[in-house]
Amino acid sequence: MHDRVPVNPDHTPGSSANNQVNDAANPNHPTAGLPPLTITNVKSICCAPRRSPYPSLVIVKVETSEPGLYGLGCASHTFRPLAVAASVDHYLNAIVQGRSADSIEDVWQLVYRSTNTRNGPIINCALSGLDQALWDIKGKRLGVPLYDLLGGKCRFAVDTYAHASGRDFKELEDRVQRYIEEGYRHIRIELSTYGPEVEQADFHRAEFASPEDRYKDPVEYVVTLPRMFEHIRQVFGEKVQLLHDMIYTRIHPIDAINVIKRLEPYRPFFIEDPFCIEDRQYVHLLRQQTSIPIAYGEKFVNPSEYYDLITGRMIDFIRCHIPYIGGLTAARKVAALGELFGVRTAWHGPADLSPVGHAANAHLDLAIWNFGIQERVRFTPEEEDIFPGCPTFDNGYMHVNDKPGLGIDIDADLAARFPIPEDRIFGGRALRYRDGTIRRA
Ligand SMILES: [Mg+2]
Repeated sequence: MHDRVPVNPDHTPGSSANNQVNDAANPNHPTAGLPPLTITNVKSICCAPRRSPYPSLVIVKVETSEPGLYGLGCASHTFRPLAVAASVDHYLNAIVQGRSADSIEDVWQLVYRSTNTRNGPIINCALSGLDQALWDIKGKRLGVPLYDLLGGKCRFAVDTYAHASGRDFKELEDRVQRYIEEGYRHIRIELSTYGPEVEQADFHRAEFASPEDRYKDPVEYVVTLPRMFEHIRQVFGEKVQLLHDMIYTRIHPIDAINVIKRLEPYRPFFIEDPFCIEDRQYVHLLRQQTSIPIAYGEKFVNPSEYYDLITGRMIDFIRCHIPYIGGLTAARKVAALGELFGVRTAWHGPADLSPVGHAANAHLDLAIWNFGIQERVRFTPEEEDIFPGCPTFDNGYMHVNDKPGLGIDIDADLAARFPIPEDRIFGGRALRYRDGTIRRA
């Protein structure tokens, strides 16, 4: 049995301010007899529990007319967290205060359409925080974990992949070995540097380049990537699934197609984000050239960006960052579209996402049929203290508890001890060519 969140004992039918009760026509409804549940306050909680250069986190807390009943949602935007927080505190609160906390879809549509121009990532992240918090509240009010609200478990746990990175093949091999020993069956592999130091120093001759900027030799990357896959396959055989993200060493689209084709002998589980979003139509050419599975969408914010790729069967894994697309309400629909077209999910899930966001990912992963794989992160002790109820990991699987709603809380006082530093800017550096030109990423 799940713990039922105690309702306000003062709630008696007909005693609420507007003299209404929920579902009066159905006395057996779990909320029958309770006053309507309204949103009384929406606010952001920002914190940066990981040291620089890790991103800052934005959580949305939604309070309701039932004393003690609140929800949490993830609104984390890696690059502009304070802009999201301002959107929550200055706009969302005013729009939804007094609205029904039970009407998740209605509130979502109201906020989504309230800016006239839709699908900005800042607004979407704020909306995601609100949306996830409303799902959390509904689960708490009904006394069931979110995965039950979403249809119930399709699997006993969430299979995840870990990140292995090394400066050379040997260091990478050691890290893959460690993850295999921990029980992971899926591992993302990458080298942290490409190109000799002398070339890496060259681009700083461009006086406008920041010392924080990076250089990765595109030719070195194209030559080395198949060798890296070959090496890891030779060492570990076929007993591990290998993934790779191309976003960190963005190369020209046609070069990306060429190098992905050369990975076929090594059977990648998927190649992630092979093109920047401006070049996404190149995926049509890629699809004609190879059957290597493609994960795409970490930077998508608008349905038009993923709709064509899913319905055209151009991709194999939906890679969206759930806050960027507006939260669980949007992600459920994208996942359902994917199911119809044989496309699985691989929601974005690094340290950019708050533990609340990881919990939301996991509940959705448990309940949707076309789940593929989940990116995982290792929570820090500080995060586990700030967010009681963090998902746990075992043998490569992620687990959530069976408490009502998302099953995760926040210690706001403790979070306040990790404020976002004034000089914390994540993503202010550029990936450049050797001559100093900024590359698309
Ligand atoms: Mg990525």
